[in-house]
Amino acid sequence: MNLVLLGPPGAGKGTQASRLEESYELIHISTGDIFRKAIKEETPLGKEAKGYMDEGRLVPDEVTIGMVRERLAQEDCQNGFVLDGFPRTVKQADALMEILEDLDFKLDGVINIDVSDKELIERLSGRRICKSCGATFHVKFNASQEEGVCDECGGDLYQRDDDTPETIKERLSVYSKQTEPLIDYYKQRNLLKTIDGEQGLDEVFNEIKSALE
Ligand SMILES: [Zn+2]
Repeated sequence: MNLVLLGPPGAGKGTQASRLEESYELIHISTGDIFRKAIKEETPLGKEAKGYMDEGRLVPDEVTIGMVRERLAQEDCQNGFVLDGFPRTVKQADALMEILEDLDFKLDGVINIDVSDKELIERLSGRRICKSCGATFHVKFNASQEEGVCDECGGDLYQRDDDTPETIKERLSVYSKQTEPLIDYYKQRNLLKTIDGEQGLDEVFNEIKSALE
């Protein structure tokens, strides 16, 4: 089974992707992982991407698309994959269709984890991270025993700069501007399965499973 996972930052894509990986023996492919791997292995595209990143510039679409193509052509993708973080734009979605056709793969579904902005702001702005060990907490959903102190190591907890409400709103608006056209794109192709992301992790996963049956 070959899937694409869509959803805004804070929707819990990573968690659901891991569960899909386990239950259906799919390879979880996140764009972050593809970038890291290509850069580490110093592939020509990896080197090109690194050049842009070192200069603080955005990696162009062609480079990202090229790395996705390289990754999907690897043998472990033959048994199915779940793409997370790609495509982000309609242009990338067109490129993906082309790649899949070239590799003789079929896209079986696009899972869209739907969460309201209000809920996302609450989730993301409550995140706290330990300065010493990197453990993550949430002021409401997973609070540390003592406010501002890590349960694991006693280190200080802090809020990431991009987890403040203003930055979150900006991130969400970038997301919806770029990615919402994709929802129509996949709806038109009868591939879209929208899942209510405002439930517990188990309920979200059960809804995904039913949608895939
Ligand atoms: Zn800690």
